[in-house]
Formats: sequence, C-alpha cells, structure tokens
Amino acid sequence: MSANFLSELTGSFSQPSAENPTVAMVEAAYRHHGLDWRYINCEVAPADLEDAVRGARAMGWAGFNCSIPHKVAVIEHLDGLGESARIIGAVNTVVRRGDRYEGENTDGRGFVEALQPVLDLRGKQVVLLGAGGAARAVAVELALAGVAHVTVLNRDPGRGEELAQLVNDKTQARADFVPWDRTFVVPAGTDLLVNATSIGLYPDVGACPDIDLDSLNAAMVVADAIPNPPRTALIRAAEARGCTVLDGLGMLVNQGRIAIHYWSGIEVDAQVMRDALIQALELDC
Ligand code: NDP
Repeated sequence: MSANFLSELTGSFSQPSAENPTVAMVEAAYRHHGLDWRYINCEVAPADLEDAVRGARAMGWAGFNCSIPHKVAVIEHLDGLGESARIIGAVNTVVRRGDRYEGENTDGRGFVEALQPVLDLRGKQVVLLGAGGAARAVAVELALAGVAHVTVLNRDPGRGEELAQLVNDKTQARADFVPWDRTFVVPAGTDLLVNATSIGLYPDVGACPDIDLDSLNAAMVVADAIPNPPRTALIRAAEARGCTVLDGLGMLVNQGRIAIHYWSGIEVDAQVMRDALIQALELDC
C-alpha cells in the first residue's frame, strides 16, 4: 500500500490572530469529512504580508483567509479578484486556481446565504446599521442578491455616504445615507434590519444600537453580524417584538463553509462547524 503523508494546507493571515476562532470550526469540518487538510492560524504583521503570500505560493497552499489588517493590502499580491471582492475592494479568502491565487470576499456571501432560507431578498427594503468593512460587504452582497433599496445609517457621515454611493454606482440596487445622530425610527415598510456595527460585541454585551425598538414589528427580519455573543441585546429585543431573527454565528460559519468549498470543492456540514465554534468560544446559545 502506498501512503500519502502530504496534507493539503490552508490557513489564515492576520494580526492579532490569537483570538480568531476560525481554525476551530474549519478543522472540525476537515475532521468530520475525513479530509487530510490543515488550517494554520498565522500571526502576520503588515510588513511581512508579501512574504507570507509568497510562502503560501511556494508551499502550494490551496488557499487562505485574510483578516484584519490585510483585507485590502493583500490585493496587490494576488493574480485576480472575484466580482464581489472587486466591488467591495477587500478580500478575505484567497483561492488557488491552477497556478493563480485569486481573491474572493465571503463576508457578505456568508451573511446572504444565512439569510436566504428565512427571506427572499428580491425587491426588499433594507436598513443597514454601519458602514465599516462588514457593512460594505453585506451591502454589496445584498444588492447583488436583488434587494431594491438600502438605507445606510452611520455615525461617521463620510463612510456612510461613500457606502451608499458605492451601492448606487456599482449595483442595480438604490441606496440612501441617513446620518445616525439620534434615535432612528425604523420605517414600517422595512423588510430587513441589519446591525453591521461592532455595537454589542463581547465584552460590551449589553450595548444595543440606538434605534427605537418599538418601531420593530413582526413582519421584519432582524439580523446581527455580531457573532459573540450570538444573542445580542438587539436580537433579544427584536425577538420579544415578534421579529424573525438571525444571529452572527450563521454568517461566520457560512464564511468558513464557502471558503472550504472554494478550496476543495467539498460542501461541508455547517452544523458541525457551528457546534465547534460554540464549543471553542464557550458560547451560551
Ligand atoms: P469596522 O471597524 O470596519 O466598522 C465598525 C462599524 O461600527 C462602523 O460603521 C462604526 O461607525 C460602527 N460603530 C462602532 N461603534 C459604534 C458606536 N458606538 N455607535 C455607532 N456606530 C458605531 O469593523 P467591521 O465592519 O470589520 O466589523 C463590524 C462588526 O461586524 C464587528 O463587531 C465584527 O465582529 C462583525 N463581523 C462579523 C462577521 C461574522 O462573520 N459574523 C464578519 C465580519 C465582521 P463609524 O464609521 O462611525 O466609526
């Protein structure tokens, strides 16, 4: 019998990387599906990013994730970009295709794929809280999935206006920016409210975005990008008002699932990844 001792390699480049739980869920999926694959969580400083990418190429890695602070800087070291990565202007997943390393963005796709089972996005009215990296990815991917209109709320008007402009210029959807300088009353016709700010992230677990919670109604879907804790103050308040809710774990799990699919062509079990993440982060769901 001829044995094969050569594993397929994948991983992540970020700084800081010690608190990034992705390795726990990705390796759980590899084990569950009997794949001889590894996912190596690497601490990479900005000045070393080019060498890290060259190293991955030299070793023939199947691909890797990029997290803060490399999502934009990695682009100049790659051979091409997928559609959403090009529009968003950021890459979080690099995929080896032949001898090319191409950048994709699964932040928004992970979110949209978690949402699609609960809401048909075509023609929908969206209120999006935030205009940072996550909000940008979510807005572009919602627009590509066919939503009609996105109202962008952000504290910093420059970032908010830029995101609304990006949606208007690069997608079929329409977008407006609303300065977020007072409690926001969610319009009655809103189909989907998304929190893509960092409000509510551990350890500030009691924090809730400044919206009039009584303007939420049971016809709305309320989604939070915050993965830790999954049951944010916003999710709990929305649930109490009868809304359909979606936590940030689904987005995180789907990103890993989509990345593994890009790298290996294999569709892995999302529940295995979700369970591994809950265990690794000791989450109370
Ligand atoms: P950024 O730093 O790029 O953006 C942060 C956003 O939050 C900005 O819009 C910022 O507004 C807003 N914000 C922060 N604090 C406040 C506040 N007190 N009041 C109003 N607005 C505020 O971060 P990211 O976009 O990369 O990440 C945002 C969140 O999304 C993170 O908490 C992260 O955990 C989560 N995330 C989840 C993922 C998942 O898979 N579930 C994937 C990626 C991110 P301003 O522009 O005015 O500063």
